[in-house]
Amino acid sequence: MSVDAHKETLEFQTEVRQLLNLMIHSLYSNKEIFLRELISNASDACDKLRFEALSDDALFEADSDLKIRIRIDRKARTLTVSDNGVGMNREEVVENIGTIAKSGTRQFFESLTGDQAKDAQLIGQFGVGFYSAFIVADKVTVETRRAGLTAEHGVRWVSDGEGSYTLETIEREARGTDVTLHLREGEEEFLEPYRIRAIVKKYSDHISLPIELLEGEEGKEEWQQINSAEALWARPKNEITDEEYKEFYKHVAHDFEDPLTWTHNRVEGTQSYISLLYVPQRAPFDLYDRERRHGIKLYVRRVFIMDDAEQLMPHYLRFVRGVVDSDDLPLNVSREILQHNKLIDTIRAASVKKVLGLLEGLARNEPEKYATFWREFGKVMKEGPAEDYANRERIARLLRFSSTHTDSEEQNVSLEDYLQRMKPGQKKIYYITAESFAAARHSPHLEVFRNKGIEVLLLWDRVDEWMMSHLTEFDGKPLASVAKGDLDLDELEDEAQKKQAEEAEGEYKEVLERMQKVLGEQVSAVRISHRLTESPACLVLGEQDMAVHLQQMLRQAGHEVPISRPALEINPGHPLVRQLKEIEDEQRFEDWTRVLFDQALLAEGGHLEDPASFVRRLNGLLLGLGGQ
Ligand code: ADP
Ligand code: MG
Repeated sequence: MSVDAHKETLEFQTEVRQLLNLMIHSLYSNKEIFLRELISNASDACDKLRFEALSDDALFEADSDLKIRIRIDRKARTLTVSDNGVGMNREEVVENIGTIAKSGTRQFFESLTGDQAKDAQLIGQFGVGFYSAFIVADKVTVETRRAGLTAEHGVRWVSDGEGSYTLETIEREARGTDVTLHLREGEEEFLEPYRIRAIVKKYSDHISLPIELLEGEEGKEEWQQINSAEALWARPKNEITDEEYKEFYKHVAHDFEDPLTWTHNRVEGTQSYISLLYVPQRAPFDLYDRERRHGIKLYVRRVFIMDDAEQLMPHYLRFVRGVVDSDDLPLNVSREILQHNKLIDTIRAASVKKVLGLLEGLARNEPEKYATFWREFGKVMKEGPAEDYANRERIARLLRFSSTHTDSEEQNVSLEDYLQRMKPGQKKIYYITAESFAAARHSPHLEVFRNKGIEVLLLWDRVDEWMMSHLTEFDGKPLASVAKGDLDLDELEDEAQKKQAEEAEGEYKEVLERMQKVLGEQVSAVRISHRLTESPACLVLGEQDMAVHLQQMLRQAGHEVPISRPALEINPGHPLVRQLKEIEDEQRFEDWTRVLFDQALLAEGGHLEDPASFVRRLNGLLLGLGGQ
């Protein structure tokens, strides 16, 4: 077969160019990390080869001694990082380093502000390691051959990082990849072996493959191993520095920032394994993407088995990064086997407990860090009560809410805080769900609670309504929505209040009936309210009903949602309601009633079916008032 050396020049995807600019800007003060990124990629490529070779031993091509090598060429001003890992074919080169195939790319670019300094801070979350080479290089050459392909299928990729790259097919015996950086003027320090040693020691010592540097006098150079090449997680905890833990995290998580916290455990007994689990500081862009990768890496007796072993963490803890290394699983374990494996189930259950324990410790001892965690991952944790029934109570303790006590959008009230502030005689934990913080906070349903100084949790995240349907009780106390069901504040109402309400029921009997006739099917009942002190009216759902804003949202998204008719409650203390009693004219009574209903719906975050009529009626009433 003849080599199709066909050489072409291709444009980078626009995003890649933007990214390169940002990258150079953001990382310039810490440019040495380019080496960490290239070594991290080389190590990943070796892991990938090992994984593929599990099912096809021939891919090793009789060379299973995987390693990373660095070579300096002073004359040519180049630095080359090589690996004998999996390599890439032509399409893979285009896909992996000519485009950014990452999910979440579009959102990332949409979130950019155009202010380079600000945007630069975002780059770390995006994790685009390969391009960091251009911080110090004005030209990068990648030569690679995919494991399993013949020598004629080598590929050379060359770019100056300015907008385009060339691609050609070459003969290449060596399996794997060489990345050669042609250093920019002024970057000569990276041609010094001592400098390279120091950088590798600092950032890449934990890489479990040998990293070798070619050193020595001209003609007498020798390969020297410059890292300790031990699996970090297998070392005793007390011998690992925080810096080492952090660098290892950046490698496994493909993150540029330090982790928030971590937990490292060795379990011995009926089965033995090690887990090293990290919580990141920042949510990645693809947290909600089902295709996302980079979760937990699975190893068996130090040998890499697979990336993103999703069986090792439940979905609501999908932000956890790290490794699990089992002594007992077979080396040829596959994803299918993992799905029905007792060993994996035990490791998973124990790992979940470790993570929950880690978060509990953080909440207790480092509340500021916990607040960061909650801001980034709170919405995901809220999936926990539904997904992980067994740990429901522990997850509930980790939840944080806004509440009428703090009246702040910052979610920092725990259920335990709430319990401590409950009024004597109060039997339930009260909450409200709404479309936004403002809607929750200003809801008429809160009036009586504010009045009596009873705290109400304010919930407005999309998952909240769903979460609360799985969280019905905490510490033996039921959780109750203030917008649903009969409000039973009995224990908190004094005799005078009760008497007042009873009197109002009698006094308004006829008004209530007339209103019911006007509203007909729109409401399940019209009754005197025990929850209003300032607003004239509000809508109340049944215990099992979905919040109004949620019903409308689901309907808009095309879901069938059963119609649940709310009850209309009126406040006999309100002048508008008092006036209702005096209205004889049926049309006028109807207008008043409908306006009260519609405004109650609006206050609920609901949308009016016929806003124009509402406006017309309201204007009519305003004019009427003016004329009186
Ligand atoms: P990430 O490592 O987070 O995926 P990078 O920008 O560092 O992002 O690398 C992009 C992709 O390029 C990698 O996912 C991999 O597919 C490919 N790649 C980079 N370096 C190598 C290498 N040495 N061998 C094989 N593939 C590589
Ligand atoms: Mg990388």
